[in-house]
Amino acid sequence: MASKSKHRQNPAPPDLDTFIKKARKYARPYRVGEGKKFRLKDVDPGDTAGIGSEAKPQSEEALQNGVRALATLQDMLYAQDRWALLLIFQAMDAAGKDGAIKHVMSGVNPQGCQVASFKVPTSEDLDHDYLWRCNRQLPERGRIGIFNRSYYEEVLVVRVHEGLLGKSKIPPGLIKKDIWDTRYRDIRSYERYLANNGVLVRKFFLHISQKEQKRRFFERIENPEKNWKFSASDVEERGFWKDYMEAYEEMIRETSTEESPWYVVPADNKWFTRVVVAAAVIDALDSLDLRYPKVGPEKLRELAGAKKALLAE
Ligand code: AMP
Ligand code: MG
Repeated sequence: MASKSKHRQNPAPPDLDTFIKKARKYARPYRVGEGKKFRLKDVDPGDTAGIGSEAKPQSEEALQNGVRALATLQDMLYAQDRWALLLIFQAMDAAGKDGAIKHVMSGVNPQGCQVASFKVPTSEDLDHDYLWRCNRQLPERGRIGIFNRSYYEEVLVVRVHEGLLGKSKIPPGLIKKDIWDTRYRDIRSYERYLANNGVLVRKFFLHISQKEQKRRFFERIENPEKNWKFSASDVEERGFWKDYMEAYEEMIRETSTEESPWYVVPADNKWFTRVVVAAAVIDALDSLDLRYPKVGPEKLRELAGAKKALLAE
């Protein structure tokens, strides 16, 4: 398929098309389309696509160029003001969600980007359906919205600790045995609804190994500048590793679709995680028919008039 970027009106940096192709190559292996057959054990958290750590400097340069390409695409998204892009990040603690978000979005215009973090629901949140708090944080058209955790917690932490269901204010009669299937179905419908309205959804599970998580926890404990990131409950949650992995696997199987795919991103090497996430975002933006709004004859006359007036000053 010819790249849509050929039809863009304003000249983008000459390397944009090359970058888009490269991005696709990096991102596609980690994309789960239709998820039914997905198995978590097929993804190695330590995978770096064969790139050795000696090539890390080049990959960092690639990431910087990727961030520039992303900025160009985001500028078009913003100018066109039709589509919105929603990026959802889920992971175990210390898998690098915050760092990935920070690095990948570092080059984009802050006006075109909004991040929302979802923590333990407040009493106001619990007074509503679980999509409510997320729905009010959806990106406007022309923007990239990032969810640092999301409604997917409702089939992750809430599934691992089923007692949380009882603490929610859902009428007990509605908490049935098939509640998880019901939630997967509702989430699929919700994302389909978003797609039908021009909100492109891309979901990222940063897949860290238990061993690397332990190493990062130690780092957080030993390094005073990282102490704030650590909470004792993180170690407790680690005790439920197997349950979490099962919940993640089933969630991906049930909610990954061609339209709203999950990316399962190896997360034991932060530099690699960032390259894959940036690549997937570029690939997503390139799938849209982004172009700068066409300027009509009237606007061209207006511009010519203004130029004349400025020259005459
Ligand atoms: P952090 O992102 O590390 O600051 O932690 C946020 C905490 O909020 C995590 O332990 C999540 O599991 C928890 N959390 C987020 N959403 C929900 C939810 N819907 N129900 C219960 N806990 C949640
Ligand atoms: Mg935490």
